[in-house]
Amino acid sequence: MVDFVTSPEVCVGFLRYALSLLPCASDKVKDKVKDKVRGHGGIRVPGMMRAIVYRGPNDLRLETVPVPRIGPRELLVRVAACGVCPTDIKKIQYAVLPPPRIYGHETAGTVAAVGPRVRGFEVGERVALHHHVPCLECHGCRHRAFAQCEQYKRTGITAGFEPAGGGYAEYVRVMPFVLPGVVKIPARNSLLEGAMLEPVNTVLKAVNHLALLPGDTVLVAGQGPIGLMFTRLLALRGIRVVASDLMESRLELAKLFGAYLVQSPKSKGQRPSVYGKASAHGEFKIQGSKFKVQNPRVVEGRSSREGKRRTQHATRRTEIRNPKSEIRNPKPYDAAVIAVASDDAFRLAHAQVRGGGQVLLFSHTRRGEKTPVDLASVCVDEKDLIGSYSADFLLQDEVARLVFSRKLDVRRLITHQFPLEQTSAAVALASNPTADSLKIVVSQITDG
Ligand SMILES: [Zn+2]
Ligand SMILES: [Zn+2]
Repeated sequence: MVDFVTSPEVCVGFLRYALSLLPCASDKVKDKVKDKVRGHGGIRVPGMMRAIVYRGPNDLRLETVPVPRIGPRELLVRVAACGVCPTDIKKIQYAVLPPPRIYGHETAGTVAAVGPRVRGFEVGERVALHHHVPCLECHGCRHRAFAQCEQYKRTGITAGFEPAGGGYAEYVRVMPFVLPGVVKIPARNSLLEGAMLEPVNTVLKAVNHLALLPGDTVLVAGQGPIGLMFTRLLALRGIRVVASDLMESRLELAKLFGAYLVQSPKSKGQRPSVYGKASAHGEFKIQGSKFKVQNPRVVEGRSSREGKRRTQHATRRTEIRNPKSEIRNPKPYDAAVIAVASDDAFRLAHAQVRGGGQVLLFSHTRRGEKTPVDLASVCVDEKDLIGSYSADFLLQDEVARLVFSRKLDVRRLITHQFPLEQTSAAVALASNPTADSLKIVVSQITDG
């Protein structure tokens, strides 16, 4: 079903003609049909739409459902792209929440209707949506723990049923409390890039949890789309990223995203095995066995004085650290990010982090699974075990700058696009990645 722009007169004329062909239709039915094609500022919005409805564990069905009606303070958005996110996969595969629901929350699209009391949006504008917005007033919010805020836990975007994101449908209703999270997509950027804001936000939030100095070394375990975002965002802050993954193809990409060293956990002792080279812009290129040290970079947004101090600190570290000797005598990591739901990866990384360092869990979202931890490593060695979940609404502007400026070029991360009716296949591929798959997107973009 393709929406199109036409004049309201044409719509109404067509409607009258269609109704005249229905001599047996009752007034009630005629009203329903009329409702189905009511116009919104020149964009024709149908009454019914296609949607992928979650009906139970691993049971996604293509169904026809009503296009959501919007209230006076709401937007209706025609969905163009919606990323397949591990949190949705978990809900689809493990029956976390009761059906029916329409999932999909990494959504970008075009405004199809604007409630009369909404200001600042026009029909036809391209937007990226944000399905959770905190109240900014509760106890959790005052501690900037937005994911723990009760309002934040409410999903403000729906395509019908219990609100669950709705991105795997043709239209979504955007409720008033999430309107502050809607970002307009610049003309030079694509709707696909817009759909990547939400996952980038979650990664930037997690990066901000790490207490790092430029020149520090951080292990990023897992180089899927999320791990690669960590690699890039940390590299942009002058952090030496040791990227690890079982797939060689992902390690190659990690170099392009700024990894200082890459390694496969399969290699003996998990020692770095492949090297990158820093370009003038902090990018690394494959360089065989030769290696040049990355220039230290200053943390963005710091004062110039503090930045200078940090740069000097980083320079000192750069001088004394030699990657070849690091491989012979690997130093402990200053921090580790676990971007893969593997307890083995956690245990190995936890052992390899220095005293006073941090281990950040990003992918262990499934409850009920336990792994032993020597608590003295936390108490005596002062290794902080921290987590980060979901996004930080206040970072939206910074996230938009990073993505739309292409400092973090998310286009490289999107490897597969599936049409709406093949959402099940998209979920299957995202949950069983191959050597050439990274971010999977359900796309309804019809103009290429
Ligand atoms: Zn997500
Ligand atoms: Zn709150």
